[in-house]
Amino acid sequence: MGIKRETGRAGASVYRSMRWKGLRLAAKRRDGWACVQCGAQGARLDVDHIRPIRTHPELAFELANLQTLCVTHHSEKTKRELQRRTETGPERLAWRIFTRELTSNPLRPLIELEI
Ligand SMILES: [Zn+2]
Repeated sequence: MGIKRETGRAGASVYRSMRWKGLRLAAKRRDGWACVQCGAQGARLDVDHIRPIRTHPELAFELANLQTLCVTHHSEKTKRELQRRTETGPERLAWRIFTRELTSNPLRPLIELEI
């Protein structure tokens, strides 16, 4: 039980815990209820793990590893992290070159199909 759920989203069990809810509040209070990057205030603030739970599970409950971000900056950071992960490794690189060729020359796969 639980194994399939755990693989769905890194740290899902952390986010469900009471401990996290208290810690999230402490982080927002420390950051003055504002995004640390742009200073946006309001209800739509996320608490982000500076070092992701996926790679640093031991820092999941470390207040020093938390920062308050607005939804925009949080999703930007998450996107960057996912990109960094896919940019490593020769297979990924080959795939990226392949897809870039496809998008820069959209007629090519059609021509190959016709042959
Ligand atoms: Zn922001």
